[in-house]
Amino acid sequence: MIILFGTKTIYKDMGIVGNYECSRCHNVSEWKFMEYRNWFTLFFIPVFPISRKHEYLQCPICNQAYTVPDDVK
Ligand SMILES: [Zn+2]
Repeated sequence: MIILFGTKTIYKDMGIVGNYECSRCHNVSEWKFMEYRNWFTLFFIPVFPISRKHEYLQCPICNQAYTVPDDVK
């Protein structure tokens, strides 16, 4: 029997946090609050997380990622 295991990064869209100007594309748009974690997978099914939760903000136009400022958390 072959046991297939590996890792997978799962992204979670936590919704819109507000309108900000992107320093990369200079558009004012609704930024998304994103979360991701690396998971251990068994037969491609995520079983348990193997990393802490990472949070970032993302510009929906150019997909530039930003660290989350303390006043948004
Ligand atoms: Zn942008």
